[in-house]
Amino acid sequence: MEIAIIAHDGKKAEMIQFLMDFKALIISKNITLIATGTTGKNAEKAGFTVNKYLSGPYGGDAQIAGRVAEGKTDMVLFFRDPLGMHPHEPDIAMLMRLCDVHDVPLATNPATAELLIKAI
Ligand code: PGA
Repeated sequence: MEIAIIAHDGKKAEMIQFLMDFKALIISKNITLIATGTTGKNAEKAGFTVNKYLSGPYGGDAQIAGRVAEGKTDMVLFFRDPLGMHPHEPDIAMLMRLCDVHDVPLATNPATAELLIKAI
């Protein structure tokens, strides 16, 4: 199972905390993590193996959206910062739209992500 993790800068600490909280589950379920560049680097520092794509503003969200469209990604955990401005807003909207088009579970905050990951 492939899960994409993406966190805006204001949410990266929460993403790492989330991963640590569910580390045993992530390992035991043999989950492959993919991530936008900086989120992935942070997850690697925390001890996770991650397939990293470009940083979000440079196209990472779009790359992950492509994987969603191709049916390769099974779940997207996207901790968005609703208080920040993002130059790549069109890519973010595209990723969320493609999750809906392809009926791929999408969590945009830790509470929802927890419910989703517990359901695996
Ligand atoms: P980042 O990208 O993980 O490279 O910071 C996330 C984003 O801004 O979408």
